[in-house]
Amino acid sequence: ESFENLGLAPILLQNLAGLGLVKPTPIQEQGIPHIVRGRDLLGIAQTGTGKTAAFGLPMLTRIIAYGKRPAPKTVRALVLAPTRELATQIHDNLSAFAAGAPVRIQRVVGGASINVQSEKLAKGTDVLIATPGRLLDLLERRALVLSETKYLVLDEADQMLDIGFIHALRRIAKLIPADRQTMLFSATMPKLMEELAQSYLQDPVRVEV
Ligand code: AMP
Repeated sequence: ESFENLGLAPILLQNLAGLGLVKPTPIQEQGIPHIVRGRDLLGIAQTGTGKTAAFGLPMLTRIIAYGKRPAPKTVRALVLAPTRELATQIHDNLSAFAAGAPVRIQRVVGGASINVQSEKLAKGTDVLIATPGRLLDLLERRALVLSETKYLVLDEADQMLDIGFIHALRRIAKLIPADRQTMLFSATMPKLMEELAQSYLQDPVRVEV
């Protein structure tokens, strides 16, 4: 098996080859064709399964195909992660996948200058990777708006619940229009997570690896 027949943008296929990624992992093979077509996804998967590429490649494919630059302060795709480290890893992975494509990918996390981050968001962002607390701070400062956001990814959602980000997640999700595509990844599916998936996902494809 290869990445060739999953419906991905040619520039992403070139970059994957350059990165030495040749064979899709199970979650990539099972998830990518559905996400490219716009379906919601519930991924029950741990780190190391290739979940970042599983949501990142099809989302980047759709954003590249859309072709328009984001308006000031808007965000086309929002990726929420529990920790700075994971947000950084996702940012670096997606940036490598999208190298050479006209896609603006940014990261905002706690512990860095909020003024610098506000300035970065002013021009508009295609893919924003954020931790929930810092994102709320930036929303309160009106440094960005989520009214044009079409993609929402909740990565390591069980970790976000454990850290106590449930209220932040609810507040953030409420600001994103319902006609979005949502992807939720969790290593475990406790009852609260099933409820969260139920309220945020519409007719999702469920992939368990
Ligand atoms: P993740 O589960 O997204 O954190 O990815 C774990 C690691 O696997 C990362 O270092 C990826 O670069 C790598 N990886 C992702 N997809 C593939 C693939 N199809 N083949 C080989 N390595 C991969």
